[in-house]
Amino acid sequence: MWVGMDGTGRVMNRTKLKQIGLDLPLLPTTTVGSFPKPPSLMRARGDFARGKISAAALRKEEEKATAFWMETQEELGIDVVVDGEQYRGDMVAYFAEKMGGFEIGDLVRSYGNRYYHKPIIVGEIRWPGPMTVDWWKYASRMTSRPVKGMLTGPYTMLDWSFNEHYPSRREACLALAKEIRKEVEALLEAGAKMVQIDEPAISVRVEELPWVIEAMQVATDGLQAYFLTHICYGAFEYVYPKVLEMPVDNIDLDMSLTAARRLALMQKDRFSKDISYGVVDVHSHVVEDADAVQQRLQQALTVLDPEQIWVDPDCGLKTRTVEEAVEKMRVIVEATRKFRGELIRNTRPA
Ligand SMILES: [Zn+2]
Repeated sequence: MWVGMDGTGRVMNRTKLKQIGLDLPLLPTTTVGSFPKPPSLMRARGDFARGKISAAALRKEEEKATAFWMETQEELGIDVVVDGEQYRGDMVAYFAEKMGGFEIGDLVRSYGNRYYHKPIIVGEIRWPGPMTVDWWKYASRMTSRPVKGMLTGPYTMLDWSFNEHYPSRREACLALAKEIRKEVEALLEAGAKMVQIDEPAISVRVEELPWVIEAMQVATDGLQAYFLTHICYGAFEYVYPKVLEMPVDNIDLDMSLTAARRLALMQKDRFSKDISYGVVDVHSHVVEDADAVQQRLQQALTVLDPEQIWVDPDCGLKTRTVEEAVEKMRVIVEATRKFRGELIRNTRPA
């Protein structure tokens, strides 16, 4: 019997979830955070940028889109939901535009053919007051399910910006962490029990990993919540197993295309936390079928315990169409339900 098996990390995480009042099913389903913006919101964002509509009118469209995604997640039966980030353009710029100490720079090229305005740290980083709390509350009012608070981590904020103020990258990162912690506290104050602090940039420079961990410590230390972090599309083999020192309960990873390699690493050095296990590719238009997803879960169980696994897409779904995103989530829920049912039947003591 795997439940409560060995008294280590994963079991502690289940206990912690219960302590903070969250009773989740085996293999909880969730998503990484972003959903596509419906065409009406895309039009409104364009109109707002051209000065044709007011900030209030744009906000109305963002609220409508958020409500749509809340209803959709409810209908699909996702266990742990998100607000869908309909109010964000870029995950770093959204926060940089609000926080003190940043200026927004010229367009630079990031991955592929995407261009973005790279923020510049020009002064002391300052938390401006709640940046995501209103949206968390707005989303939470529409559901009885737990809603994750969603933040961009200090290291990714730093790595995707220019630093012209702090003497070192480490100091800039720790300054960001100190201020991001205030947003975490504001979310907890509002009632959030889970906060995801995304660090997709984590595997960019392996030598910086010790203070990425230190920064996460600054942002979360002593706070009573279930913490997650999302890491994706990087050289995971360079940061593993050191990344297990991140002071979070759950690490969210893209696994659908990389499972064999990564599970081999996790076999060698046991994955000691909960994992949000990506089972669908977010860069493909093709919607996986439920059997394929169940096979991926079966493969996960060759190395991981069911108690430590959450199920989600590889990354945010914002680059898919609304229809594709919905269908990809539908297949995750359908496959997980079947898989969960079989697992419970098969492990029930005789
Ligand atoms: Zn990602």
